[in-house]
Amino acid sequence: MEIERHEYDVVVIGAGGAGLRAAIEARQQGKRTAIVCKSLFGKAHTVMAEGGAAAAMGNVNPADNWMVHFRDTMRGGKFLNNWRMAELHAKEAPDRVWELEAWGALFDRTKDGKISQRNFGGHEYPRLAHVGDRTGLELIRTLQQRVVALQQEDEKLHGDAEAYIKVFAECTITKLLKDGPGEDAAISGAFGYWRETGRLICFETPAVVLATGGIGKSYVVTSNSWEYTGDGHALALLAGAKLINMEFIQFHPTGMVWPPSVRGILVTESVRGDGGVLRNSEGKRFMFDYIPEVFKDKYATTEEEADRWYDDQANNRRPPELLPRDEVARAINSEVKAGRNSPHGGVFLDVSSRLPATEIIRRLPSMHHQFKELADVDITAEPMEVGPTCHYIMGGVEVDADTGASSVPGLFAAGEVSGGMHGSNRLGGNSLSDLLVFGRRAGAGAAEYVDGLAARPVITGETLQEAEAEALAPLSRSGGENPYEVHHELQRTMNELVGIIRKAEEMKEALEVVEKLKERAANTGAPGGRIYNPGWHLAIDLRNMLLVSECVARAALLRQESRGGHTRDDYPAMSADWRRKLLRCSLGAGGEISVEEQAQSSMRDDLITLFDRAELSKYLTADEMAAFDALAK
Ligand code: FAD
Repeated sequence: MEIERHEYDVVVIGAGGAGLRAAIEARQQGKRTAIVCKSLFGKAHTVMAEGGAAAAMGNVNPADNWMVHFRDTMRGGKFLNNWRMAELHAKEAPDRVWELEAWGALFDRTKDGKISQRNFGGHEYPRLAHVGDRTGLELIRTLQQRVVALQQEDEKLHGDAEAYIKVFAECTITKLLKDGPGEDAAISGAFGYWRETGRLICFETPAVVLATGGIGKSYVVTSNSWEYTGDGHALALLAGAKLINMEFIQFHPTGMVWPPSVRGILVTESVRGDGGVLRNSEGKRFMFDYIPEVFKDKYATTEEEADRWYDDQANNRRPPELLPRDEVARAINSEVKAGRNSPHGGVFLDVSSRLPATEIIRRLPSMHHQFKELADVDITAEPMEVGPTCHYIMGGVEVDADTGASSVPGLFAAGEVSGGMHGSNRLGGNSLSDLLVFGRRAGAGAAEYVDGLAARPVITGETLQEAEAEALAPLSRSGGENPYEVHHELQRTMNELVGIIRKAEEMKEALEVVEKLKERAANTGAPGGRIYNPGWHLAIDLRNMLLVSECVARAALLRQESRGGHTRDDYPAMSADWRRKLLRCSLGAGGEISVEEQAQSSMRDDLITLFDRAELSKYLTADEMAAFDALAK
């Protein structure tokens, strides 16, 4: 079958929030842009986002501003964040939300008609712009509407709606192409297949923006859906880019635990933001027992104070249910391990005794529907049962904060596939704003890169043949192993051995299993031909999941401390020395993954002085504190 070919200035892989915002920017800068997505157009993780987009607009509490948001983000990430990204994000998020409104997004309003903002874990003030608990849907709808508006403009200008921006849906990219073998070779294209027909497709392009989202499908219990197989992470690694912070995985504290068929599906943090409380089997509101030292002065120590906070935030401290996600997930894990669990192995999350039924249905319509339909639980009358679920990866492609450029010329990344912004732990709501801020920046970065090129890179016949042979290999192994079995074993291994609490011995065991699974994956077969063959698709995805899982396990084994989304049973404390080190994964010529330490750069003076000395002393080394003291003099 002949390979279909297309030529573009910029190819964006992924049609979630990051991909759409990047594509809009590239098109607005006059670049012919393709959006390629392996799921249906409109079906991305972004659409599932419930709680909202964090942006310091100060609509509900005027004390909020970008500096407070920056501080919260750094605290949430336990100071491991790329501080430049955290700065850009905090400064630009309000503009990106207002821009969405200008493009037609209908956010919930405050009584005086401003965009409403809700409380979320780790955010000092109500900060999440939202649309009930369906914010992601409105975000995607608005960005898609913007794409259509641009296409209508192109129809008028060029007589072709798709002249400057075209969507290729249900089309999976399997390889990034480069214009040579050397380290400094540049991107020349992207190769893949149409999921429905199995027809192969090649995009000739000097610039690719990866916006493929996360990796959750490497774990059994996850809030992520089938597309999250770490494709972008693996494509970047295979193209020679570096991945950072891969050891940090966010286990969201509240996923459904029952019935088994829906285990892991997300229960939004908005339930707690809107007053929901966590209780164990003894009826105890246990989060008061789990406030860590670094957060002691910011969280209420009695139920009375915590409850008063919802009406009077100026004079009370926040409820501990709103601690950052890593803290709440570990607390639930400890309660369950201590035997104080709910009947199906979670804990209770109760909003029914906290808000009137009408208010619950108004504020949390999807949650009400989800529990009624999937678990036959009426959340206006009884508590939910919840437990941790693999939700988000903080690690990803190492990029330049300002442009989204990776170390490979022509390769850019934005959104969940990129790393650095969230440090060791992401605050809820900071992803949707991240997608908008850095999606726009990556689209602009790619456009600028294309403008600077003297000549377009070329795809050789040999490069194309290699990509084709690799994509079709599982189809030729008709007697090979079933890829679903390999996948299941990988998911179980990652869940049990590189999960929420980690031990050296278990991670070593996981790496041995991954090594064997790599051999088995190379022999998986997919009978049935090219036309819509999910076994074939999974056999290809396995390569990606195995590469990413190995990076997670190797980095997690090396980092001998506990921080954010990385908890070591054998190294339970946070170490100031480790805070200065980032772990960076790369792929060697023989296909081996290596992890090297890289020094974390020091925060700019005007940013570090936004923090109190007492707080910094909990995170920084003695020599960093001496430098801070010299600065403060
Ligand atoms: P996505 O939106 O997942 O898009 C990825 C795209 O890449 C898809 O179009 C997919 O088809 C495509 N793709 C992947 N691989 C390939 C390939 N090989 N070839 C072609 N296309 C490919 N964050 C918040 O800030 N607030 C919230 O309230 C919130 N709620 C959430 C609720 C749920 C249930 C989940 C799962 C996440 C939530 N998050 C939330 C996190 C947030 O939604 C995600 O981190 C974010 O949407 C990721 O966006 P993205 O653009 O990076 O990727």
